[in-house]
Amino acid sequence: MTTTTTERILAINGGEPARDKFLVFGAPCLGEEEIAEVVATLRSGWIGTGPRAKQFEQEFAAYVGARYGISLNSCTAGLFLSLKALGIGPGDAVITTPLTFGATANVIEHVGARPVFVDVDPKTLNIDPNQIEAELKRRNSMSLTPGGRIKAILPVHFGGLACDMDALYQIAERYGVQIVEDAAHAVGTRYRDKMVGSLGTLTCFSFYANKNLTTAEGGMVTTDDPLLEERLRVYHLHGLSRDAWQRFGSRRIATEVLVPGHKFNMPDLAAALGIHQLRRQEQFLEIRERYAQMYDAAFVGLPLRMQYRPPLSVIDGMPPPDRHALHLYVLLLQQEAFRVTRDEIVDALLAENIGASVHYRALHTHRWYREIYGYRPNDFPVAYQAGEHILSLPLTPGMSEADVDDVIIAVRKVLGAYQV
Ligand SMILES: *Cc1c(COP(=O)(O)O)cnc(C)c1O
Repeated sequence: MTTTTTERILAINGGEPARDKFLVFGAPCLGEEEIAEVVATLRSGWIGTGPRAKQFEQEFAAYVGARYGISLNSCTAGLFLSLKALGIGPGDAVITTPLTFGATANVIEHVGARPVFVDVDPKTLNIDPNQIEAELKRRNSMSLTPGGRIKAILPVHFGGLACDMDALYQIAERYGVQIVEDAAHAVGTRYRDKMVGSLGTLTCFSFYANKNLTTAEGGMVTTDDPLLEERLRVYHLHGLSRDAWQRFGSRRIATEVLVPGHKFNMPDLAAALGIHQLRRQEQFLEIRERYAQMYDAAFVGLPLRMQYRPPLSVIDGMPPPDRHALHLYVLLLQQEAFRVTRDEIVDALLAENIGASVHYRALHTHRWYREIYGYRPNDFPVAYQAGEHILSLPLTPGMSEADVDDVIIAVRKVLGAYQV
């Protein structure tokens, strides 16, 4: 090799890595406030679901502009309960995106329904409303509906970019189907001057360790509908007519099992984190935006593209109507420009001590969905191609600008080495 400096040899080939210490993907940003609140919770004598979970529910619902928030132990539980609360079950079908985490489609299976994938838009990577409508038309025109009648749509706000919800709710109304939003990436996402969580019927958020707002494990469903709130409330904790705080609190209230419910409640120990993570969200979002712009500027001219982001220009001093919450910062590689696959590029970045990751290999290519439903890769060509060429870079408010620079150096080094 005629390489003049050692740093140009990729770490995966024995060269010096771009940085000494591994940069973890999606490391949480927890401060002294969170730590103090957890300690106070431990000392309070009440670590289970109680006053802090209640406070977090109220403050989170207020943040997104919803009437109710039901705190849970995961977003997966929220998606499952939402489908159940809408009465979706065996014999029904639910439309969803293949470019998502497994949980999105798994919950459709959990209620006994069938997932029906529809392709995504190449620019936004969100489910394509036109293709949803085409699927609904096609199924409605068939006398037999294999896999059941479509009862709901389960869109994902990919990476933190809102789906075209006006179009989706119009379609839902026209065809008489429900919508459950997977907002696992979308804490802080704004769509036409409204926060995700206040747009529709049921919205499910994730507070998993690497999400924008974390409670280690946790989730929240927001809704404006008192009937759905009541159903979720009952189902989320054993189907009891009163939750634990009310049962073991200072007042004695008779309780009974109304339905065989689940065990999906969020403990106060987790809510203690959430309360303070929520207070810092706007500041977190600003840092995410600043780092994303550093990435944008550094990658100009490379054979790749990014997901669409709405412009941030401030008009008449008003905040922009749409905001990408930047849970994910993804690169979509132009495959023909590289000698190696996306997986080899991710491996090379990992060797440089950069915690790059993949979100997501299209779900219809995973064994269960492939084998049970016979899906082939090119049934959803946009999601399939994106899933083969996408990679996520670390982007969290806990990173320093020096960390962002390390990622930039490593990406340029690895992509430069593998370009044809
Ligand atoms: C993280 C995630 C989930 C699941 O969230 P949990 O809180 O871990 O259950 C669901 N959907 C998407 C798109 C996710 O990224």
